Amino acid sequence: MKFTVVKKSVKSAARAGLLETAHGVIETPVFMPVGTLGTVKSLTPDLVAEQGAQIILANTYHLFLRPGADLIARAGGLHQFMHWDKPLLTDSGGFQVFSLAKLRRIDRDGVEFQSPLDGGARHKFTPELVVDIQRQLGSDIMMPLDVCSNPHDPKEKIAEDLQITLAWARRARLAARNGEAAGRPALFGIVQGGLHEDLRQEAAARLRELDFPGYAVGGVSVGEPEEDLYRIAQSTAALLPVEKPRYLMGVGLPQNLLQCVPFGIDMFDAVLPTRLARHNSFFTPLGLASILNAAYAEDWAPLVDGCDCYACRHFSRAYLRHLARAKEILAIVLLTMHNIRYLVNLMRDLRQKILCGEV
Ligand SMILES: [Zn+2]
Repeated sequence: MKFTVVKKSVKSAARAGLLETAHGVIETPVFMPVGTLGTVKSLTPDLVAEQGAQIILANTYHLFLRPGADLIARAGGLHQFMHWDKPLLTDSGGFQVFSLAKLRRIDRDGVEFQSPLDGGARHKFTPELVVDIQRQLGSDIMMPLDVCSNPHDPKEKIAEDLQITLAWARRARLAARNGEAAGRPALFGIVQGGLHEDLRQEAAARLRELDFPGYAVGGVSVGEPEEDLYRIAQSTAALLPVEKPRYLMGVGLPQNLLQCVPFGIDMFDAVLPTRLARHNSFFTPLGLASILNAAYAEDWAPLVDGCDCYACRHFSRAYLRHLARAKEILAIVLLTMHNIRYLVNLMRDLRQKILCGEV
C-alpha cells in the first residue's frame, strides 16, 4: 500500500491524497460504505460501485463466526466470494469489545467472545489470530484487535484498556510484518484513549514507534457529545504523521464529514447511510428527512434537487413515500443508493475544493 498527499490545504489541515492498494487506487478523502457481513445491505456490488464507492468495509468478527474464515478462503477470498473487485478494509472485532460488552471477557492475551450464533460457544480472539483471519479474508487494509473503551468509564479504566490496546498493537504489527515483504495487506494502528487528550497523546506516540502504514482514530462515535468527537478527532489527527493515511472510525453523518476533513482526516466509515435508509430516512442539505412525512404525499420533486443518484434521477418523493408506506423492498434499495451517493458526492466536492485551495 502506498499513500501520496497530492495537495495540502493552506487554510486547514485538510489534504487530498491517493491511496494505492492491490485492488485499485482510492482518492481521499473518502467515505467507505459498510458491508459488515460481506454485503452492503440491500445493494448488489455493482450498485455499490455505481454510487461511486471506492472501498467498502467488512467485519472480521462477524465473518469469522459465520460463514467462517476458512470457508471464505476456500471460496478464493472475500473479494471473490462477494463479487467485489475494489479495495476492502476489514474491521478487527475491537468495536464488538464495546458493543457486545456483556458477551466478552478480556485478558492480557486476547478477548473471549460468547457467540450469539452457535449455542453460546466461546471463541478466543488474539491479536495474532485476528491478523491471520484478515489474511484469510484477503483484506487490503487490516485493523488490529483493540479495546474500544466506553467513554463514560472512569479514566483509570480507559487507561488500563489503552495499555492492553497498545500491547496488542505491538503483537499485531509483528504478526503482520511477517508477511509484509511478500506484498501482504497493510495493517493500521488504532489510537484509543477515550475522551482524554493525554491518553490519546500517549497512544499516538507509542503507535508511531511501531511505524504503521496508516493510523485510525478509534473509540469515537460511541455515544459521546458531538463537540467531544470534534475535539478528539482534531487533536488526535494532529498527532499522526502527515505522510500516512488517517482514518476516523465509525463517523459518517454529512455534517461530521464536513467538519472533520479540515482536521486532516482521510477516511471515514459508518453504517448510518444504509441503516438510516432501512428506517426510511435520507440525507438532504438541510439535514435528515423521513420519506414517510405526509408533506411528501403529492410531492413530485426528487429526494434532493440536483442529486445525480438513480433514485433522484427517476423517482418522486411521492412515489418513494408510497413504496415506504407499503413496505416495499425497493424503497430501501433506492434510499440506500441515495444516501451512499450523497456522501460520495460530498467527499468528491470536498476533494475538489481542497485541490482548488478552497477548503
Ligand atoms: Zn439522490
